[in-house]
Amino acid sequence: MRKLFFVLFIVMGFAGYTQKTLIHCGQLIDVKNLQVLKEMTVLIEGNKIIDVQKGYTTAGAGEKAIDLKTKTVMPGLIDMHVHMESETNPNKYMETFTFNPADFAFQSVVFAETTLMAGFTTVRDLGGSGVNISLRNAINKGMIKGPRIYTAGKSIASTGGHADPTNGYKNQLMGNPGPEQGVANGVDECMKAVRQRYKDGSDVIKITASGGVLSVAKSGENPQFTEEEIKAIVATANDYGFKVAAHCHGVIAMQRAIRAGVNSIEHGTYMDAETMELMKKHGTYLVPTIIAGKSVADSAKKPGYFPDVVTPKALAIGPKLQSMFAAAYKSGVKIAFGTDASVYAHGKNWMEFVYMTEAGMPILEAIRAATVRASDLLGDDRLGVIEKDKLADIVAVDGDPTKDVKSMGRVTFVMKNGVVYKNN
Ligand SMILES: [Zn+2]
Repeated sequence: MRKLFFVLFIVMGFAGYTQKTLIHCGQLIDVKNLQVLKEMTVLIEGNKIIDVQKGYTTAGAGEKAIDLKTKTVMPGLIDMHVHMESETNPNKYMETFTFNPADFAFQSVVFAETTLMAGFTTVRDLGGSGVNISLRNAINKGMIKGPRIYTAGKSIASTGGHADPTNGYKNQLMGNPGPEQGVANGVDECMKAVRQRYKDGSDVIKITASGGVLSVAKSGENPQFTEEEIKAIVATANDYGFKVAAHCHGVIAMQRAIRAGVNSIEHGTYMDAETMELMKKHGTYLVPTIIAGKSVADSAKKPGYFPDVVTPKALAIGPKLQSMFAAAYKSGVKIAFGTDASVYAHGKNWMEFVYMTEAGMPILEAIRAATVRASDLLGDDRLGVIEKDKLADIVAVDGDPTKDVKSMGRVTFVMKNGVVYKNN
């Protein structure tokens, strides 16, 4: 008798897991071959895609069909550069002094859900206070809704560098942050800063190799690590299986970072032809963040929006990203989609598709940059494509992006890891 119950239990258990979902796709974007397939069915079981079939397969007993026959379906989108803890506003610089970690945490919950509902099922968080690590954990546990997060935790800078958290403070408050806080000088401290990120639970290493726009410091482009320091960071990161993303606006910083072996250059504002050649030689990705440039340049025109030292940097650097992107794309540099969400309002990530296509990249290539190219840069081959054995991260938009790029802003369906979060 007991044996019979055991067998029944096993059979029922399997039956529960074999419940399949069929998605009927009016259009399905094949991101590898850059084509739009008509009338396709995607089969899902648990959190995985088990097959992709031509035509509309009929759902069998116990199977569920989702009708997306009037939509364009594509893999869940991936944004390789976001900051989930915060969002631009005129009082942002005060938040450093008025916000407790819980304040950042509560707002990050909202930003995470907004991002997922905009069709971004995976993001790379390139720097925060460490709340971004807890956010990732809460999402993974299913406690809150948000994208799959690869987080850098706290990004690594040199003293006074772009990600030194005490820039612009009065002397009394400045203190002397070290590797634990992500501020490192010299090879030993750089190694320690990477190892601290491992201890903290980061997934990826982010360094600020040049000055940046929004830090309270004079230069937005000067080199802020030596090549030797970056090499130490990359070598240590590789020991722990981390990829390295390098924020760079200036050319000297970029060239040092590329030669030192970082996996991606973030922003890349002043990238010239020589640096593009170096990118191609090393296979380094560019994550262009055009929308961030446009957004900071717009905000800088509002009096008092940024501190005085930031405004001229925003006005100079912001508008250059789109033309740099156009040149980098033309020259054949590898591009992964990224936006720097937080510098503009979370959920508007899709606007980057508009700016990429304006600059000459066809929309299907832009979608490839946000799917299979992004998963390549992440080093996660379970993501970025609708194929057998991949994770079921699937989104749909209203309309046809190849005819109207703005349809990327009309996301009507979101499935992450086999779970439907949105179906309008
Ligand atoms: Zn950023």
